[in-house]
Amino acid sequence: MAGTVMPSPIRVEEDEAENIERIRQIKAERGDSLIILAHHYQRLGVHACGDVTGDSYALCKAAANTDKARDIVFCGVRFMVTSAAVLCRDDQIVYHPDRNAGCPMADMANLPQVLTSWKELGEVVDTKAVVPVVYMNSDLDLKAFCGERGGIVCTSSNAGKVFDWCFERGEKIFFFPDEHLGRNTANKYGIKREQIVLWDPKLPFGGLSHEQIRNAKVILWKGYCHVHTRFSVEMIEKARAEHEGIKVIVHPECTEETVAAADYSGSTGFIQDYVINRMKPGDKVAIGTEVNMIHRLAVQHPDKLVIPLVRSLCPNMFKISTGDLRDCLENLDTWEPVKAEPNEKRFARVALDNMLSCAG
Ligand code: SF4
Repeated sequence: MAGTVMPSPIRVEEDEAENIERIRQIKAERGDSLIILAHHYQRLGVHACGDVTGDSYALCKAAANTDKARDIVFCGVRFMVTSAAVLCRDDQIVYHPDRNAGCPMADMANLPQVLTSWKELGEVVDTKAVVPVVYMNSDLDLKAFCGERGGIVCTSSNAGKVFDWCFERGEKIFFFPDEHLGRNTANKYGIKREQIVLWDPKLPFGGLSHEQIRNAKVILWKGYCHVHTRFSVEMIEKARAEHEGIKVIVHPECTEETVAAADYSGSTGFIQDYVINRMKPGDKVAIGTEVNMIHRLAVQHPDKLVIPLVRSLCPNMFKISTGDLRDCLENLDTWEPVKAEPNEKRFARVALDNMLSCAG
């Protein structure tokens, strides 16, 4: 029922209140010279310390537009932090409170695999007509690969606009590393089922026939997010059976069956906006995304029922605690900055700028 706040998905840090107080003190001392960016999947306490909070697209824009701050501390996973290091000015410095916070999905595509796949594609079709699209959730060398070949970065909040941009420039999209965001976007875009094909990088020519490659409009990489592919149609049916009138929203990294069964699908920014601005007191929603974000929304909106379809936690987003953030801020002078290698930075910037220019 509305008004019931689900228990925290994890044990709260014992010294969290003290850490937050110290972080606030440091922020007050540093003033405009410091900015903290925090992704929506961060723990409640870390999220509360963010000067800017948002999904990866919003945080990417914030990193590109941060004017006064010299030091940018990014609470998120590695691919977000390296993107910020590309987008900020040369006199700004980006820090990551935990360099071990990576992303298993991003690790499902690497440059040698993508180069081999691109070469194989080129043996079947003219790659001048293929636009490479890399999801934000990827290493910098893959963003650079796209930038160098007239491609673009996308996030879950702008994938539709990115498809528009691509089809103004080419006939096919080569989309990596998340199969599901690519497939859900292609479905929404109205691309025929038989023109969406799955490329398995472990197999020659992705396991596809030359005819399948020639006929495809969207070629999807076989990668996925283990946090989002946990959600199922059965969970949606269960939520509806247990809570009359409940709406269901899922993230587009879920499978296409789950997205089709939900009432809505959208980025974390979309989901947050739905809970804050579109729900009225007493309304109910079951959400298929990372559980820390759902927990935070439930705590912040006790007059609405906000529950997870199932408690699915991203262990990498979870790595950064308020203790880590405090440690980073207290030792900023000696904390290792996140830097991009110059050539990688140049071309990754092209792909990121393409995204920022096409998606407003
Ligand atoms: S939620 Fe999924 S895509 Fe996002 S960082 Fe975690 S594993 Fe990667």
